[in-house]
Amino acid sequence: MTSPSRRAVVVGGGVIGQVSALALARARWRVSVVDPSPGRGATVAAAGMLAPGGEAAPGEEENHRLHRAALDAWRDLVDEVAEATGEAIALHRVGTLVVGLDAGDRRLVEQYAGVARGYGVALRALSRREEPAPFEGLSARVTQGVLVEGDAWVDPDEVMARVRAANEALGVEYRATRVRRCSSDGARIVAETDDGPLEGDLGLVATGSAGLPGGLEAPEGTSVRPVRGMTLRAVGPDRYHLPMVRAYVHGRPFYAVGRAERYNVLGASSEESPVRAVELGELQRLVRDGLEVIPELETADLIETRVGLRPASGDLRPFLRELGGGWWWSSGHYRHGVTLAPVAARRLIDAVGPA
Ligand SMILES: Cc1cc2nc3c(=O)[nH]c(=O)nc-3n(C[C@H](O)[C@H](O)[C@H](O)COP(=O)(O)OP(=O)(O)OC[C@H]3O[C@@H](n4cnc5c(N)ncnc54)[C@H](O)[C@@H]3O)c2cc1C
Repeated sequence: MTSPSRRAVVVGGGVIGQVSALALARARWRVSVVDPSPGRGATVAAAGMLAPGGEAAPGEEENHRLHRAALDAWRDLVDEVAEATGEAIALHRVGTLVVGLDAGDRRLVEQYAGVARGYGVALRALSRREEPAPFEGLSARVTQGVLVEGDAWVDPDEVMARVRAANEALGVEYRATRVRRCSSDGARIVAETDDGPLEGDLGLVATGSAGLPGGLEAPEGTSVRPVRGMTLRAVGPDRYHLPMVRAYVHGRPFYAVGRAERYNVLGASSEESPVRAVELGELQRLVRDGLEVIPELETADLIETRVGLRPASGDLRPFLRELGGGWWWSSGHYRHGVTLAPVAARRLIDAVGPA
């Protein structure tokens, strides 16, 4: 067995950077991940839904196909992590129940179902009277819904911990520092960090909404902007055994994911803002919508609010761009970075090949 010789520097250790690092290490690159706080960017706020069916939206068939492929790629990622560490990431395939609260919301559910069926998503229209179980805990106003089988969720905290363990088992080194500037002399890339320079043969920028460090230029037409989002974490009703709920509440989208030990993730707000703060109005809307859809949340304990800046590109599609001199840029994963991480990693390896 020959030892790997070519070195890759991954700038940014969110879900995209760390899962890409795993793919590089498996392709025999010697990898360093540089991030002052890995896994604490947008990734920490994510609900972790891998829900291509429940999120089918008009005019987004191409994105939908990519998300479906991502769900398949996730099964391989789970196996790869288990192979490296002996411990698998839990993939919870509970499906999604899509519901509406008022008459307008029910029309939105019908529209959604039409689009999803057109994309080939397998759906089942449910009446609460005939099949009450999936509706447990929901407002009495919700009398019908659409069940999407196959949608799943993962816990992004668990994903980050296990992917890091897999990376470390494969020799990936983590450097807890910030990259200030990136350069290249044509043959070698250099990442200038707060703790000195790091050299390599390949550089991947995966800094989410933070964009490119100094010294690198975005190709024309490629950009990212931050779209703030908040999820709430509340301990209360046990919804672990239930499908994820995606609801329209007076026209606004809301979702709930029931985790083990009565832990519920409620989301998500969406604001064009680069400020990572908990805005009271945003918090109020989420709590209000949550209580309307799942009244039994009334007595739940709010444990945390988590806020992240989603990386949105101009056309809301993810991208991998070659920047020249050995540097690449992977970003734009917007609302679906957890879902898309294994696809982003595959694209990178297809582009750069093994070491
Ligand atoms: C509220 C909310 C809910 C979401 N829910 C879901 C969901 O259910 N399913 C789903 O698929 N997606 C979801 N997403 C989207 C998903 O979280 C993002 O698309 C994904 O986390 C983006 O990953 P990333 O690695 O590109 O960015 P990030 O996670 O932001 O990581 C970027 C990393 O780069 C580091 N960094 C930045 N600049 C530098 C530098 N100069 N030097 C070194 N390091 C640097 C940061 O410290 C950070 O750790 C959600 C997002 C939000 C905000």
